[in-house]
Amino acid sequence: MPLDPKRTVAELKELRALTGDENGAQRVAFTPTWVKARAWLKEKLAGLPVETHVDAAGNFWATLRGESERALLIGGHLDSVPNGGWLDGCLNVVAGVEILRRVNEQFAGKPPVTVRLVDWADEEGARFGKSLFGSSACSGALDMDEARGLKDKQGVTLPEALKVIGVDFEQVKESGVELKNAAAYIELHIEQGPVLLDLDLPLGAVLGTFGVERHAITFHGQAAHSGSTPMNRRKDAFLAAAKMSEEIYRIAERSGNGVCTIGSCTTKPGIVTSVVEECRITLDQRHLDAAKLATMLREAKEASERFAKEGDVRVSWERIWQIEPRPFHPELIDLCDAAIKETVPVSHRLPSGPLHDAAETCGAGVPTVMMFVQSLHGISHNKIEDTKEAHLELCVSAFDRLATKTMAWVERKR
Ligand SMILES: [Zn+2]
Repeated sequence: MPLDPKRTVAELKELRALTGDENGAQRVAFTPTWVKARAWLKEKLAGLPVETHVDAAGNFWATLRGESERALLIGGHLDSVPNGGWLDGCLNVVAGVEILRRVNEQFAGKPPVTVRLVDWADEEGARFGKSLFGSSACSGALDMDEARGLKDKQGVTLPEALKVIGVDFEQVKESGVELKNAAAYIELHIEQGPVLLDLDLPLGAVLGTFGVERHAITFHGQAAHSGSTPMNRRKDAFLAAAKMSEEIYRIAERSGNGVCTIGSCTTKPGIVTSVVEECRITLDQRHLDAAKLATMLREAKEASERFAKEGDVRVSWERIWQIEPRPFHPELIDLCDAAIKETVPVSHRLPSGPLHDAAETCGAGVPTVMMFVQSLHGISHNKIEDTKEAHLELCVSAFDRLATKTMAWVERKR
């Protein structure tokens, strides 16, 4: 068995030394450091009989042709947020290189199905505020009108930044042809949360990515003097909004595995001597089950109307953003679970709070699954992001087993 998980850890350190500094990873998409990371990746692949190219959206593909055109895709992203962690996204790519080496060796350059590694462009959206750029262009979900107008802090537009790396913005959706023979998509990622850490388990099979409902809720009351207005005569917008803060915990609890967050609260007039006239809060709700997500939203709306009535104020809602849950393929989840159990004693199934490129391949109809490895401190997008080296080695082994199982699955589904 030529798989060498220690080599993956060594190569991750090599990439960190090449593209990071004392503040963390600096591989922001479309920057010279990111281009350097891509050149490094190409070097790593140089000894393999793979065809490489950059697609219409700037995604990098390495293809090991098999007996069948039907392909197993292994995905990740070399791009990072500024001052990012050393593992987010690139673990998936570097582990994918190791799997290509193993598959190539085992099948003497000609596996039964085609195996392709993809490094998605600008997963993080750190520069233009729009995540999953390359994968959403490929899946077809990218909103062209919205993306065309995006600008970075220097005023450079996304189309201008793409031009620098040789990508024509108006053609990016042509990258969709890459999915033509895609029979399955697998992605390894650090968990970026504390679930596996709290369970003291190294690896987990991901059930899918959460659907999200994001709204602004505004309560409208009446400003009044804080000294002269008796308590029973107030129309206090803050009182109604404040009741929501406790209610969302009950809503989340009833939903099973959902989460709700009030992340922002602003008041008008916002002075110490006035009852609050207007209070705007934001609500972010997430669930893996679309029906349960809809119930959480309905319950929040009903509660807001009840609290408004109790306090003699008015409430209005405005949707900020929304995305459907993306449940992964049940058979691939089983394969992922089995691959983990052949590597460590216990597996755990968990949903993903953050979105990943896998949500886009899943949305495009490609059978998809992800594997998570434990994150120390339960933290990411920060230079302290870390995972035990022993766990990194385990995840490469388990992910390689998942690749083998998925290749056999692709063959069977022919
Ligand atoms: Zn990532």
